[in-house]
Amino acid sequence: MGARILDGRQVAQSRRDRLEKDIANYKSMTGTVPGLATVLVGDDPASEVYVGNKRKASTQAGIRDFHRRLPAGASQAEVKAVLADLAAESDVSGILLQLPLPAGLDPTPLLEVIPAEKDVDGLTAASVALLTQGLPGLRPCTPSGVIALLDATGVEMEGKHAVVVGRSELVGRPLAQLLLQRHATVTIAHSRTIDLPGITCGADILVVAAGVPGLIGAEHVKKDAIVIDVGIHRTRGGLVGDVKFDEVEEIASWITPVPGGVGPMTITMLLENTFTAHKMQKEATVGIAASPMVSHHE
Ligand code: NAP
Repeated sequence: MGARILDGRQVAQSRRDRLEKDIANYKSMTGTVPGLATVLVGDDPASEVYVGNKRKASTQAGIRDFHRRLPAGASQAEVKAVLADLAAESDVSGILLQLPLPAGLDPTPLLEVIPAEKDVDGLTAASVALLTQGLPGLRPCTPSGVIALLDATGVEMEGKHAVVVGRSELVGRPLAQLLLQRHATVTIAHSRTIDLPGITCGADILVVAAGVPGLIGAEHVKKDAIVIDVGIHRTRGGLVGDVKFDEVEEIASWITPVPGGVGPMTITMLLENTFTAHKMQKEATVGIAASPMVSHHE
């Protein structure tokens, strides 16, 4: 029997429906709504589409839209000033600086202007430190989306052997941390790993974020493993992932399709982070102990 399809569109939609209700309830209780500031520098067409999708999804969820657009020639100081303004603006719960930035701008010091409590992308050094230490904080969206998909299977992560293929700061590393916090036994593989199939065949949970189309085939997968494909590649035949779906589907117990797997989860987790950030900021302002941000046992 083939694997069950882990449908990211369905999981994302049900989380967004619940979030929309939660935001509406919070508004009726407190009179406040979360606000998301997206900052787009330059006119890269792909970035324009991504930012447009994020703004549309957040507005649909009941989140206030604070968009800032700067020209491609904006200086480091100008971008920094915009981020600092947003950091100080109390109606802005979350700030997202769309990457990559135009050549000549250095993202690292700019990201550091975003305070941890507004870092809805979870990528600043402060957020990374909180994640690594298992302290409450906002977590990066794609790795959180993978965890939400695993939760949707109903399979317990504790004690399972999880193999993450890829060690990027955006996906592989934070995902390994999140899996550890769920008490999985975690192995990280990367481009220098010797005998990749030997490693991945030990996985109960295999998450592939290598950015190599079709890297993982039947020979890499243990029977009944859960396989999550983060990779996404545009080919002449359409979008494909890092996993050879047709082969692996025969062996795995659950598998994510591409498209329609991890992709739809990323924006959903951004919206959830924005609401979490908002509640935390409001509760801190009125002196109620802040409800725990996503924490040790996520
Ligand atoms: P990345 O920064 O290029 O990192 C790729 C990682 O995979 C690196 O750690 C690299 O190892 C490792 N790797 C490369 N070739 C390998 C191989 N042959 N065997 C084992 N490991 C290998 O990419 P990323 O940003 O993490 O993204 C990974 C993929 O996910 C991309 O396809 C990207 O488009 C996709 N993505 C999707 C979403 C979504 O929302 N669906 C979000 C983010 C990313 P080294 O460290 O040794 O170089």
